[in-house]
Amino acid sequence: MIKVGILGAGISGLSMARLLGEGFETEVLEKNALPGGIARTKDIGGIPYHLVGGHCFNSKYPEVMDFVFNKILPACEWKKVERKSAIRLHGYEVNYPIEFSIKQIYGYDKELALKMVADFLNSQDDTDYANLEDWFVKKFGKTLAEEYFIPYNTKIWNNDLTKMSHLWVEDKLPVPNRYDFFDNLTQIAAARDKMPHTKFYYPASNNQNTFIDALAQGLNIRYNYSVTEIDSDKKTGQWIVNNELTYDILISTLPLKEIPILLKNTPDSVKTAGEKLKYNKISNVLWKNRPCDKTWTYIPEKDRLFHRYIHIGNYINPQQDYSISEAVGVHTFEDMMRSGAKDPFLTEAIDHHISDYAYVVFDENYQESTRIIKEYLNDIRFHTLGRFGEWQYYNMDVCIKRAMELKNVIV
Ligand SMILES: Cc1cc2nc3c(=O)[nH]c(=O)nc-3n(C[C@H](O)[C@H](O)[C@H](O)COP(=O)(O)OP(=O)(O)OC[C@H]3O[C@@H](n4cnc5c(N)ncnc54)[C@H](O)[C@@H]3O)c2cc1C
Repeated sequence: MIKVGILGAGISGLSMARLLGEGFETEVLEKNALPGGIARTKDIGGIPYHLVGGHCFNSKYPEVMDFVFNKILPACEWKKVERKSAIRLHGYEVNYPIEFSIKQIYGYDKELALKMVADFLNSQDDTDYANLEDWFVKKFGKTLAEEYFIPYNTKIWNNDLTKMSHLWVEDKLPVPNRYDFFDNLTQIAAARDKMPHTKFYYPASNNQNTFIDALAQGLNIRYNYSVTEIDSDKKTGQWIVNNELTYDILISTLPLKEIPILLKNTPDSVKTAGEKLKYNKISNVLWKNRPCDKTWTYIPEKDRLFHRYIHIGNYINPQQDYSISEAVGVHTFEDMMRSGAKDPFLTEAIDHHISDYAYVVFDENYQESTRIIKEYLNDIRFHTLGRFGEWQYYNMDVCIKRAMELKNVIV
């Protein structure tokens, strides 16, 4: 039987192993003691503390929904949660998405709302974007871009948006046409946020780990096993991991940035490309908070460290008053507490975590560096998969979809 080694037991590695099924002898190598990668939560007295940011599930791909609900965790073991998101603006809150909340903004600041409308309708979207900032200005107009999209995304990417590519954003953000925008202003027909995440699913067990553990069930996983070296046997064509494990096919979900170093005999040009790849970590705190009925709050305000709250207590049953604050970069508990003290909504800090990989950065080196590395790996038949494996902005469902596509290449 063909031996397949899968590096990493996050959503991508687990999905790949499940999809390959019994036709292959599959082994997953994972450095942690538990599966799930960045999607795994820590249980704190029944509250699922998402260490690397809140995770909810949904997908526009029917085959992914079918896989998850019919092969992994039955649909009846998920609950549907309606997205109720807010955006903080100059101290008040409006509904997400902001471009459909101009009437609400008008109630607080008439001049600002009028400028948003005028700029949105006059924006010249010539589909030629110099950078990410330019994309926001051309899609939403100058005022909406400057009040929300640019400050929020500057926080999330921890980067100057004029030095970033717009390529990642195209299918990630709903961009309304003028008719939807106008309908919403006049309420002829309230246009809606058309992203699949308007509604989403969370395990009825009250913890995302139920999904992860269901995905990992029955798989051959070697935990606490860190991959430190990958080589190939020129005679047999097999892959050799850490000088001791051999596989006919190797699939890596490890960060693409690290592969040129882990792989033996990598050309210098590929190593240099790997060094140029940038990513961000994320710092989170779990808080007790005053009651609210939202699922997320987005915080573009520049004087706040956090860019978003996930009101995790509203995902579980019975509802509880807990939220997770996220700040991109490395921030100590003390820094996070100091920032939290500015917001009376947060009442008590419970736990703190700093991630490793959270977001890859689509800067000016992104395209060229990923091209060099991927072309080399393709030449040597080394498969990469997943959010960091492919160095992309993938959600869990896209990781699963990509695993399905890779299976078709392999089988
Ligand atoms: C803040 C935030 C919020 C998010 N929210 C959502 C959401 O609401 N919904 C959604 O669908 N998606 C969300 N995502 C995206 C989702 O988390 C990812 O798409 C998915 O979890 C990535 O899985 P992966 O397996 O590709 O990567 P990872 O989870 O990173 O898995 C890689 C695995 O490889 C292991 N590994 C690394 N190095 C080694 C080594 N040397 N040896 C052995 N093992 C190693 C790691 O321990 C890890 O388990 C969010 C992401 C972030 C950062």
